[in-house]
Amino acid sequence: MAGTAEEASGRWPDSAADVGGPTEKDTKKRRDFRPPRRKSIEVRVGGIVLGGEHPIRVQTMTTSRTSDLDAVLAEARRLEESGAELIRVTVRDAESLANVPALKAALRVPLVADIHFDYRMAIGSMDAGADKVRINPGNIGGEERFREVVRAAAARGAAIRIGINSGSLERDLLEKYGYPCPEALRDSALRWVERCESWGFRNIVISVKSSDVPAMVESYRLVAAACSYPLHLGVTEAGPPPYGTIKSAVGMGALLLEGIGDTIRVSLTADSVLEIQAGFDILQAAGRRLTRPELIACPTCGRKEIDVEKMAAEVKAELGRRGIRRPIKISILGCVVNGPGEAREADVGIAVGKGKGVVFRRGEVVRSAEVSAITDALMEEIERFLAEESGVEG
Ligand code: SF4
Repeated sequence: MAGTAEEASGRWPDSAADVGGPTEKDTKKRRDFRPPRRKSIEVRVGGIVLGGEHPIRVQTMTTSRTSDLDAVLAEARRLEESGAELIRVTVRDAESLANVPALKAALRVPLVADIHFDYRMAIGSMDAGADKVRINPGNIGGEERFREVVRAAAARGAAIRIGINSGSLERDLLEKYGYPCPEALRDSALRWVERCESWGFRNIVISVKSSDVPAMVESYRLVAAACSYPLHLGVTEAGPPPYGTIKSAVGMGALLLEGIGDTIRVSLTADSVLEIQAGFDILQAAGRRLTRPELIACPTCGRKEIDVEKMAAEVKAELGRRGIRRPIKISILGCVVNGPGEAREADVGIAVGKGKGVVFRRGEVVRSAEVSAITDALMEEIERFLAEESGVEG
């Protein structure tokens, strides 16, 4: 299914590469080092499905006050245009709740309501059209109130994210484990999941975030091993970029490489739009969802014959100008010392010597050109490669 988010963002439609698996062509030509994705059940959230073999979705959360309709609408629209595939807003009071219908009407991507403390906000949000609510059952006021939220979700076809965090773990788990360790987070999540299941509700997504990366990774591993619900990954309170992005990439990357994770949110102390770009970058780097061309450029050294940084910027701009968004690995080497062999993983690349450069495809030199014409030669080869890969003669 080409989801509403792709339509909204103009992103390349879902493909085998997009959902985190090797393409048929990749399988023939290259080894795939990725372990299979964990098998999770499918959970519908509005117009998209999380889990199963569906693409790992990138989501974010607005930072505006939801009670300020102009601000939150403008931010949500900007996030949607940037490629956000689920948008979460906090619903903390009646004024925020009153704006949920307008947000729902304005967005094509699923709307998630973030709830703390007041279970009536969760029910009200779903009544107002929210496709999913994120609640922390530990702070919602007890099992009966949690059950009311589950009943409402079941009646409206909405999903619930059970978002466990260390700050509101049940007392008996804290006593058992002594502190909010990964095992305690897992037990807490599973406890609420089992309650949902006993009431016949399975439209569940789970998160067990932590700001400590090794603890976060272990918590998710434990939950992944214990159930088959889709997992929402996140390193919470990661902080400002670039460290916040790196911290998120390390935590989520470790899990994604193991095949764990069905949707991700990068939590940055920054413009929320940056979270979207970072999310897609993390998925791309982990090889779990390829949504754009990838530039492989050498760091340069004293042997360089061209300004690789400038050329990489030119190629990036040219890809944008030509509307090339398909995943293709493009390599730019600053000299021919190691030649194409150094970038064998690339689909198409160039290496430049004195005054001349060569263009290669998957390690084989296919043409040469003067340095002044090498960018054009590279772009032509990229277009030809993509046309051939699509089965279209270029
Ligand atoms: S490709 Fe050449 S210029 Fe680039 S880092 Fe390697 S040796 Fe240095």
